[in-house]
Amino acid sequence: MSLNDAVTVTITDLTDKGDGIGQLDGRTLYVSGALPGEQVQVRLHGVKPKYAQGELLAVLQPSPDRVANFCSHDECGGCQIGILDYAAQLRLKRQRVQQALAAKGLSAEVAACLGMEEPYAYRNKALYAVQATANGAELGFFRKQSHALVRCDDCGIQPALTAELVATVRDWLQTHDIAGYDEAAHSGTLRYLMLRDGRLSGQWQLVLVTLGETLPEVADLLARLARFPQLHSVVQNINPQRGNRILGFSNRVLLGEEGIHDTLCGLDFYLTPLAFYQINPPQTSVLYQQALAACGLGGDETVFDIYCGIGTISLCLARQARRVVGIELVPEAIDAARANAERNGLDNTEFHAGAAEAVVPALYAAGYRADVVVVDPPRKGCERIVLETMLQMAPRTLVYVSCDPDSLARDLAYLTAHGYGLQSVQPVDMFPHTLHVESVACLHRWE
Ligand code: SAH
Repeated sequence: MSLNDAVTVTITDLTDKGDGIGQLDGRTLYVSGALPGEQVQVRLHGVKPKYAQGELLAVLQPSPDRVANFCSHDECGGCQIGILDYAAQLRLKRQRVQQALAAKGLSAEVAACLGMEEPYAYRNKALYAVQATANGAELGFFRKQSHALVRCDDCGIQPALTAELVATVRDWLQTHDIAGYDEAAHSGTLRYLMLRDGRLSGQWQLVLVTLGETLPEVADLLARLARFPQLHSVVQNINPQRGNRILGFSNRVLLGEEGIHDTLCGLDFYLTPLAFYQINPPQTSVLYQQALAACGLGGDETVFDIYCGIGTISLCLARQARRVVGIELVPEAIDAARANAERNGLDNTEFHAGAAEAVVPALYAAGYRADVVVVDPPRKGCERIVLETMLQMAPRTLVYVSCDPDSLARDLAYLTAHGYGLQSVQPVDMFPHTLHVESVACLHRWE
């Protein structure tokens, strides 16, 4: 087997980046654009002792689940499984959760993944990188596993107005020769364009992330944006730091307010540029309803919402419980959670800023107890001390909302080994056409 050989291979699985996996002469072969069950012809490159990359030349026998990509931007790295039929995507996601649980010896039934009826234009947030090129500033998404840009104004998972706003900003940048960001030199004016819409409020926000304080020709930009009455907020966010962090900490309002409103589960939320907010509004309602139902609230409970963000789940819980205690690392998110609670008249809530691994044990030591605990941690899952303290609190019900099946399985294995029974696992598709899968797991304490 050597470089540039054309070979035929059968694809048996997908990596978590969405590349097809096959076996050839004892090597694992990775083929971008190939699906499980397919026989494909590939040209080899990157041949190593244990693995090789294959460039897809032809699909000799297509998977019955192969469809034409719903989006015209094949080269974009944003969606990994746009060529897989949506029903098959949902089956794959359920299978991923099942496999992760099985790998930890958990045998719970995993329900069918709850998908969208119309899995397009679902995102309420877009982030375009702005780069310096020979032809002036360019805006786009990153190509697969690279920081090279792909122009993607009419992204298939963004609402239609996105394309018009991106084109308007590009035109303004190029007219005035305003520099895009040069990552290597850490220079330039504009680093990112972020767009966010309140799906039910109809309010839009446009954020220009700049390297420094300077942003020339703002008056002309605002004049160009005047034809979009949906824009309730135009903000300059300043991020002088090197690295992959997108937003800096300082905001300057250029038009309207610093934030926009949105309605979620019948509650009003105010979203400033730095606020974490789930990106798929209809599926967020589905996810939260699943979490809420799993809590089985009767109205008299104290509920902990750990990793609460701006308090979206907490406030849903607060309508059905006696008292809700929210815990979150980012202090600004806690300020937002308190303001959101007040805005919605939910005064049976309290919020604590700090790392869960410090705050939860401190609250327990101070005498706090919970009847029900909801956790919604980042991808790495819960710190062991958080799980241990939860066990000490001995809530009757634990609801684990997870964006990573592997860390979910690890934490569920710990909880089920310490007095809790796994009742149900419900995957929810928050990110159609990508390999991400969100799940809600419900556990009950053995009596
Ligand atoms: N439940 C919220 C947020 C979930 S995202 C929602 O549905 O919108 C996970 C949250 O965990 C983020 O807000 C992140 O800031 C927070 N977080 C990350 N590490 C944390 C830690 N060690 N302690 C507490 N919160 C943390």
